[in-house]
Amino acid sequence: MVTIKFMCPLCKKIFKGEVPKVSLGEIGSAGFVHNNHVVIVDYDYHGVIRSINAINMCNVIDGDFISCPYCNEPIRIPNDIEGYTELAYVHKDHVAIVYLFDRKHYAIDVVNIVSEQETATQKENPIDSIINKVGLNLASNLLIRRIIFGKSDIDAPKEVLRLINKIVKELDISKNVDLGIDISIAERISYTFFEKFLDKIRKLSKDIALYKLGNLVKLIRKYILLLDHFHREGMNELAEEFINQITNEDLRTFVHQIYSQLSAGEKMQKETQLNFMVNMN
Ligand SMILES: [Zn+2]
Ligand SMILES: [Zn+2]
Repeated sequence: MVTIKFMCPLCKKIFKGEVPKVSLGEIGSAGFVHNNHVVIVDYDYHGVIRSINAINMCNVIDGDFISCPYCNEPIRIPNDIEGYTELAYVHKDHVAIVYLFDRKHYAIDVVNIVSEQETATQKENPIDSIINKVGLNLASNLLIRRIIFGKSDIDAPKEVLRLINKIVKELDISKNVDLGIDISIAERISYTFFEKFLDKIRKLSKDIALYKLGNLVKLIRKYILLLDHFHREGMNELAEEFINQITNEDLRTFVHQIYSQLSAGEKMQKETQLNFMVNMN
């Protein structure tokens, strides 16, 4: 047996499975049954993944049928195959894959199901857990305050605080000093950008999600510190120019809102922020 590890293209989670070893030069296929789809993984002698394909499962009970070439169980071809090029049918220990050319023409392949499928120590994604507990809007608000503004005293349910602290610890942003932003502006900024981002990464594996979050936090804080620096030096035009070159519109709005609140009021501790900028790279 050989162990293969892969990310499902649909669930975006990482899985691990023991599959039969193939001879040198041969390619093996293994089927993994997920919620409403089947993942077909092709691998080589070394257990290196050669291709991954996620195929929707078909459960129709009417329509023409053909027989599974392996077990003879009937396979129903849906009357409406619009939008489908392939369908998976899960049988006892194997999956039949029907490649549809049109309703009358198709090819069938049979792949063994790997039953000992075990998720690779599937760790909970704390971002997803926070969103599940308090909703996307409050989750954004809390995370912005804690990891972008660098506030250490945020008010949240105990379990949510535990998850947020876990994120801070894993992001290794202990140097994430308080930017000195008046907390009331957290109520005035638009979370669109950050909410979209969190929603995108919540279903990723914990490691990938935290990696992406860490990079984004560093980037945003760097933008804000630079803008504040320009502002202090009286280079307001340069600041405007800098903001305008941020191509993602939601991100640009987000950064601009925080910056304009900064320049309107609260002053940051200059020494701290310059030290922080040095520490950042
Ligand atoms: Zn999947
Ligand atoms: Zn069958």
